[in-house]
Amino acid sequence: EIFEPTNLNQLVDDFLKLAYQGVRGNNSDFNLTMKTSFDKAIGKVNVDAHDLGRAILNIVNNACYAMEDKRKQLPAGTYSPQIEVNTLKTATGFSVSIKDNGTGIPAAVKEKIFKPFFTTKPNNEGTGLGLSMTYDIISKIHKGTLEVNSVDGESTEFIISIPATTAN
Ligand code: ADP
Ligand code: MG
Repeated sequence: EIFEPTNLNQLVDDFLKLAYQGVRGNNSDFNLTMKTSFDKAIGKVNVDAHDLGRAILNIVNNACYAMEDKRKQLPAGTYSPQIEVNTLKTATGFSVSIKDNGTGIPAAVKEKIFKPFFTTKPNNEGTGLGLSMTYDIISKIHKGTLEVNSVDGESTEFIISIPATTAN
């Protein structure tokens, strides 16, 4: 673990763009609307940037998959994929929320998503390791929490909350 002063908003933005290029690369007619709101009060925080970046990428990649999945289920041209990403300075550190309007997660599935090797993706498209790794990065390494809110068929939101000291 390497904790170092990190521009949190920049980190989130970089990994968002990385995931976006991934979907665009696979699929040029995937017109994703990205809404971002970055709290400038956060500044630099002491985090493991490499691990936290990986955690954010996992969540955003899952969001992109869920939106692509939903698009395939609906008549052409009727669905507008949208992802909303917010950062917020909190009393103890910061939070990052990532919300997509993809397939959503049924309650019975939601109970299992943090388990290693759990996946609903067919044809070896998923390893089922993304969210278990993400959970460890946030809870064990950063002593934070990972919350998920989902409306089946409508939307899914992941909220990362991390206590972090600020740095210059
Ligand atoms: P994988 O992506 O390899 O399936 P993950 O651990 O990243 O493994 O995710 C586990 C499961 O959680 C996914 O297979 C999917 O069923 C569900 N999931 C995660 N994120 C979302 C999301 N944004 N929308 C809908 N389902 C999701
Ligand atoms: Mg995944």
